[in-house]
Amino acid sequence: MSDRPRVLLIGLDGFSPDLTAQWIEQGHLPHLAMLQEQGYLGALRGVTPPVTYPAWTTCVTGVNPGRHGITDFTISLPGNYGIRFLNSTDRQVPALWNILSSLGKRVCILGVPATYPPEAVNGIMLSGFDSPVADRLDPSYVYPPELFSQVSQWPFSLFQEHRISSRWYEEALALLEKKIAVQEEIGCRLLQQEAWDLFMIVLNEADTVSHHFWQLEDTASPRHDPEITAPDSPILRIYRRLDEAVGRFIDAFDDPGLVLVVSDHGFGGAGVQALHINNYLEACGWLSYKKASQGILKKAALRWVPMRLRGTLFRRFQRLVESLESRARRGGIQWDKTRAWSDELDYCPAIRLNVAGREGKGIIPPEQYASSVSELCALLEKLPGVARAVPRDTVYKGAFADRAADIFLELDWSTGYRASVIRKRGGAAVEVLQPEAYKGGKEQGCAGVHRNPAFLASSRPLTRKNPAMEDIAPAVLSWLGITYEGMEGKSFLESQVQEETVCPADWIKASEKKYTEEEESLLEKRMKALGYFE
Ligand SMILES: [Zn+2]
Repeated sequence: MSDRPRVLLIGLDGFSPDLTAQWIEQGHLPHLAMLQEQGYLGALRGVTPPVTYPAWTTCVTGVNPGRHGITDFTISLPGNYGIRFLNSTDRQVPALWNILSSLGKRVCILGVPATYPPEAVNGIMLSGFDSPVADRLDPSYVYPPELFSQVSQWPFSLFQEHRISSRWYEEALALLEKKIAVQEEIGCRLLQQEAWDLFMIVLNEADTVSHHFWQLEDTASPRHDPEITAPDSPILRIYRRLDEAVGRFIDAFDDPGLVLVVSDHGFGGAGVQALHINNYLEACGWLSYKKASQGILKKAALRWVPMRLRGTLFRRFQRLVESLESRARRGGIQWDKTRAWSDELDYCPAIRLNVAGREGKGIIPPEQYASSVSELCALLEKLPGVARAVPRDTVYKGAFADRAADIFLELDWSTGYRASVIRKRGGAAVEVLQPEAYKGGKEQGCAGVHRNPAFLASSRPLTRKNPAMEDIAPAVLSWLGITYEGMEGKSFLESQVQEETVCPADWIKASEKKYTEEEESLLEKRMKALGYFE
């Protein structure tokens, strides 16, 4: 116990306020129920679109993604239709740990997405699941590095493959539970090590289980297969285990200070409708595909290569031409005849305009940008399954907004389920998926998908309704007696101490680090296993 204010901030990636309310009512989540009695539990207004990196970064900076610059896992490279992965050095504003460290406060920050490479904080930082760490001997995700031996068991992703069989489900669940246990053990140990001013830990198992197991939990889901009955209630099982972890963290914190439990977005189920956005753009005359001959020619050429050389050649060929995410997303499009295209990412349906001067072969004159966006939004809202087309500039405001796509799609939830966005070159724009397609689990969208609102629980009552993601950082600072002027959000708590106003001053942004090709392909693989890229 300490006589100065302290904060325990627990992040549960993808934790849904609806599922939580239902399961608290049934008595399954006693520790979260306790927080509900003490203060608040319910919805948190999320960022649009509900994507992990931008949402967590808004949570810890108090500003919208257009200002902090972490707009997704990846951004477009100017000029050549390539993409690269973002990392912590791409963040343009200080996070809670930078502000607190500069004021001499002690912080321990574990597993927050988009924090690799770790920053030199006044305390400890372990980067999130985005750390490109291939083996257990690599201490690059730890600050200070000397701490490595104490935390070398920290798990990133235990999923090797996205393989769907009833045994796979049981094994995957057991791995998720094991992962929570290891994070809980390391978290509690570090939490008890000293009286941190801010201790923050993010666990992402609720997100993983919801992506892959939604159709088992939700027997009303159009993707539910009555023949697969095991494991029983997999999402509830992980929520109960996470509730237990929340209880252990609160015990280890052992302080009357502030406890917040936050998620970056909630979850919902996918239906059986598939949207192929690029096919729609093609049908509307906004996009042209290349003729499909090239791939066949390359396959034919490979046939003449002696067998013993094929392995090496194929690996190189694969890396250069096929395996890179940017190729998969953007291959097959005839750029000089395309005004707009989609990367067709199911977790973040969005459209980009092919703007002259910005894209390598852009054809939309910059002065026609605004009119093209509104014309295209009207067209996209006619696509079945789409509720609303949101121009980026209405939700992202700031100097880095243009890292994101130009239009976000909000899909229609009126049936209780939304369509899946699936990458396809040519053919119909809307299809109904057959059971054989989504049972395989590959290339057919995940059964569970991100959905707003996000989740918040607080051990202290809120002073106002309708809290939002950008209010979390100001609330944490206010509890610690600090008002930071650079934030967009406002605290929703009554501060217990006299607040001191701090101006955005001497935070020096780390110089930008780019990932190597190996690091990028490792991240790509991990994110596929977690249910992001297909
Ligand atoms: Zn997430």
